[in-house]
Amino acid sequence: MTATMVRARHLITRTLDRHTHEQFDDAALIQEDGIVTAIGAWDDLRARYPDMTVLGSGQEVVLPGFVNGHHHVGLTPVQLGSPDMPLELWFITRLLCRNVNLRLDTLYSAFEMLASGVTTVQHIHGWIPGTLNDVEAASNAVIGAYEEIGMRVSYCFALRDQNRLVYQADQDFVASLPEALQGPMARHFARFRMSLDDNFDLFRHLRARHEGKERVRVQLAPANLHWCSDAALTKLAEVSAGEDVPMHMHLLETAFQKEYAARRGGCTAVEYIDRFGLVTKNLTLGHGVWLSEKDIDRLAEVGACVCHNCSSNFRLRSGIAPLNRLEARGVTTAIGTDEAGINDDRDMLQEMRMVLRAHRTPGVGDEVPTMQQVLRMATAGGARTTAFEGRIGTLEVGKAADLVMLDWQQVAWPFLDEATPVLDAVLQRAKMGGVRATMVAGEVLYQDGRFTRVDQDAALKALHEDLSKALTTDEVERRGLSKALLPHVRQFYEGYFDPGTHQPFYRQNSMA
Ligand SMILES: [Zn+2]
Repeated sequence: MTATMVRARHLITRTLDRHTHEQFDDAALIQEDGIVTAIGAWDDLRARYPDMTVLGSGQEVVLPGFVNGHHHVGLTPVQLGSPDMPLELWFITRLLCRNVNLRLDTLYSAFEMLASGVTTVQHIHGWIPGTLNDVEAASNAVIGAYEEIGMRVSYCFALRDQNRLVYQADQDFVASLPEALQGPMARHFARFRMSLDDNFDLFRHLRARHEGKERVRVQLAPANLHWCSDAALTKLAEVSAGEDVPMHMHLLETAFQKEYAARRGGCTAVEYIDRFGLVTKNLTLGHGVWLSEKDIDRLAEVGACVCHNCSSNFRLRSGIAPLNRLEARGVTTAIGTDEAGINDDRDMLQEMRMVLRAHRTPGVGDEVPTMQQVLRMATAGGARTTAFEGRIGTLEVGKAADLVMLDWQQVAWPFLDEATPVLDAVLQRAKMGGVRATMVAGEVLYQDGRFTRVDQDAALKALHEDLSKALTTDEVERRGLSKALLPHVRQFYEGYFDPGTHQPFYRQNSMA
């Protein structure tokens, strides 16, 4: 049995409501074999267990580990040569992504996440070419990297079986292109060789392989409405209900996606997937920027969740999600960094501040995010969207010992008035450099700038060397294709008219 006593100047265990949380001062938490077994006053617990290993100097603030509710890749698109663009054009610039080493790539962002206090990640994997065997090997490489570094991962492979590049059938899009582009485009689509059924075999194989592991869960991910055929939606709803497994689905990220749903079903995107039985407590929507009031009511009614990807929405010109309205209706919300946050990294402390600041609408009412709300989103809210629900998200006896320790000095030096509540100070002032330790399942994975299981310098050097090699033939072809496609795709969306008004849909909507 391994046991640790975590000492805290301030121990924040959970939020209670929008304005209150549970906090113990001069406290300690005991973990045994990865589970929290006691929380109490430092003096009492120390007297009871004088020989137990102690973590912490008594100058740290301890919080539940953060959950990054929506994450995809290691190196960011910017690092790989894809500039930020409106989402629909960005899909095209993303074509030039490199064939990265998935172990090293996954470790790269895991370093950033652990160093900012993230203990669990919802990894939504996508765009792996090849057959079921290839995708399964890639999935296991990603999961394996998290296991290697020790992070908790809720893994899903995003199911796409149509409209892979624009909101139009692949063959129609190929046919619409100049002849010179048709071959390269068709060749790119042909790289992805998983059938619809293969996606469910992948899910079953991964579940079987990782069953019973403390830090790995496997769930489902309908990639987005435009990417899923009706047959795919039907099957996803069936498997999710049958196995009671969570689903994470990008939805209504942009106004174009709202318009797409109207064209496909004469309704909203939420109403459309609701026809197939997807809107349940097992569903989390990624983004949900363009939800209608009725959609929000429906999500609240069934207990579905929304993962808020605040930085991503700013960067890709998607709009501002109706977070305050979701909160007012009691919809469970989480926080995700998506491809990367506002500083082009996976700094969860920064992303929490983004969420705190981006929704401060004018007025004097209580509708804007509170400190407790943001902490809840980054912990228990995020936990609720993963397959670890009930095990993580708060620090309570019987739950997993997943926590982050922040240096109080970094927050409070050289002066902090006692009138400023601890949580307010932490959420507004704590930086990655002040993260003293990150613990998952009772094991310290990161402490004072060092990762305990993986040599960060060696991994980054290997990543650098791996990408220093010459481009492969398919990488060269995709670079050319990406550049040549951009004007055609821009034209496609400029002509994306609302059938009712014959106006471009996105121009009729305020982004507020
Ligand atoms: Zn995403």
